[in-house]
Amino acid sequence: MTRPASSAFPRVVLLLLLVAGAAAACRVGAPGAPGSSATAEEALRFLQEVNDTAARLAVEQQRAGWVASTYITTDTQAIAARANQAFIDAMARYAREATRFDDVELPPDARRQLELLKVMLVVATPSDAGEAEELANLMASMEATYGRGTWCADPAKRETCLDIEQITEVMASSRDPQRLRQVWEGWHTIAIPMKKDYARFVELANKGARELGFADAGAMWRAKYDMPPDAFTKELDRLWEQVRPLYVSLHAYVRMKLRQRYGDLVPADGPIPAHLLGNIWAQDWSNIAPLVAEGSVRPAFSLTEILKRRNMSATDMVRVGERFFTSLGFEPLPPTFWERSLFVQPSDRAVVCHASAWNIDLVDDLRIKMCIDPTEEDFTTIHHELGHNFYQRAYNSLPVLFRDSANDGFHEALGDTIGLSVTPEYLVKIGLLDRAPDASGDIGLLLGRALDKIAFLPFGLLVDQWRWQVFSGEVGPDAYNRAWWDLRLKYQGVAPPSPRGEEFFDPGAKYHVPAVTPYTRYFLAHILQFQFHRALAQAAGCTGPLHRCSIYESEEAGKRLQAMMEMGLSRPWPEALEALTGSREMDATAIRDYFAPLQAWLDRQLEGQPKGW
Ligand SMILES: [Zn+2]
Repeated sequence: MTRPASSAFPRVVLLLLLVAGAAAACRVGAPGAPGSSATAEEALRFLQEVNDTAARLAVEQQRAGWVASTYITTDTQAIAARANQAFIDAMARYAREATRFDDVELPPDARRQLELLKVMLVVATPSDAGEAEELANLMASMEATYGRGTWCADPAKRETCLDIEQITEVMASSRDPQRLRQVWEGWHTIAIPMKKDYARFVELANKGARELGFADAGAMWRAKYDMPPDAFTKELDRLWEQVRPLYVSLHAYVRMKLRQRYGDLVPADGPIPAHLLGNIWAQDWSNIAPLVAEGSVRPAFSLTEILKRRNMSATDMVRVGERFFTSLGFEPLPPTFWERSLFVQPSDRAVVCHASAWNIDLVDDLRIKMCIDPTEEDFTTIHHELGHNFYQRAYNSLPVLFRDSANDGFHEALGDTIGLSVTPEYLVKIGLLDRAPDASGDIGLLLGRALDKIAFLPFGLLVDQWRWQVFSGEVGPDAYNRAWWDLRLKYQGVAPPSPRGEEFFDPGAKYHVPAVTPYTRYFLAHILQFQFHRALAQAAGCTGPLHRCSIYESEEAGKRLQAMMEMGLSRPWPEALEALTGSREMDATAIRDYFAPLQAWLDRQLEGQPKGW
């Protein structure tokens, strides 16, 4: 599971944590340079070598990574970092070499692998060794600045210092607007020193991208999506327009409730102050659910209480999750899964508890790593993580360069799709609930889910909108912060609690900016999961409200899933989407369908109230 909010760790561990750090092996000519004499045979031999090397280094990286995450010591961290760097260096070199074959005629499969190799890199290093090193240092430094980030109310007193975990806790639980504003402003000071580094980073990352034939680093990121970069941007806007009316209603409702609580601090018809939404980035509003939910919209039962009452062990819970997948027609997990996974937080050593799904040997050494408690959240997360595992196994016979999801939104979407099938009806079928409560009482559940998944959408969109503007040069260092807040106002309808001039660098206060992790994947995953869910629910013959549909025990849904998953990254994503949904287009109307009962309820609450900002 990747919570885009906080994750410092890769979701599924495969070929996706590529940050180039390699100095160039050789100077590469411009694509199509005359005198290029590369042949198709050479290209195929090259790809064979790339796939073999990638497999070998990725397995070493994952073994080292697994141990580093389940036995945190100085040494395991150092070994993992070295294995990581070996993998990154090799792939950075191969990406550069791949341009040798730009003009060679090749079978479509081989051409696709070469193109994927070039865009696998999050950042392409310039061929100049000095610049390559400078870029690697800048990236390490920005991430370290974020990682060390603390804000101290009184710098002379260490006990007043808060790190991001503590900041997160205050933002989630405090209802004192003074305190929230102080902490919000405090956290944003950690990014100020990054601004100069970021401007230089942009120059160097663009240089590397141009050497691979892209207009800039942002165009290189958008080139991962099987369509021209500009068409992809338009596609995202189209999806946002589909879902925006629901967001605007949710925004208006939450604003109204916050105004009841905080008075004129919250405008009647303007943007919501960003520090009042329960999250330092205002990207997940779940924490203010108690403020905005009426007594009558509370959930009808507590799965957490049921799990506790039944004394469900961690292994019991994972067994239930496995049965979900076998009921769809998938093979059971291999015995090694049960021997090698980590389900429970050990008492004798430090581990990374953040949930993740692994395929250590890229074949069937599947594992999950999480610290399971008997809670509804963990029960759903188990289903989510196993979704990654079954996806990983489905594409395990493809060339290594194709062993990933159809685009980087698909893996997370799939995990979350499975999570959406954890419904009251499913709990009845597996014997955890005696009978499903009447669906008329589901507004609490839908509102809670919307405060998480719908509130996230505009933020999921704007982080990369900002970076693409910066990479393209449309926004320079003299307008970084203004552009950031323009986007946050336009998409999220939030405003900072105080003026934010260019002396600040507020984008840097979000992990994924200094860590140079693309963000559009999370927006896509949030859109796609509902589209997947609607299509699978239809395949399963569910005719009730979408949020009550579970695909449990549907072999037809299992077949659709398998058809999509076994394609891995081998075909353009519209084909994978079609295999599952019957459509080649992403479609956010599934979100509207899913939340239709909530939309109707919100409309009633908002009668006579202003909407928009
Ligand atoms: Zn995940």
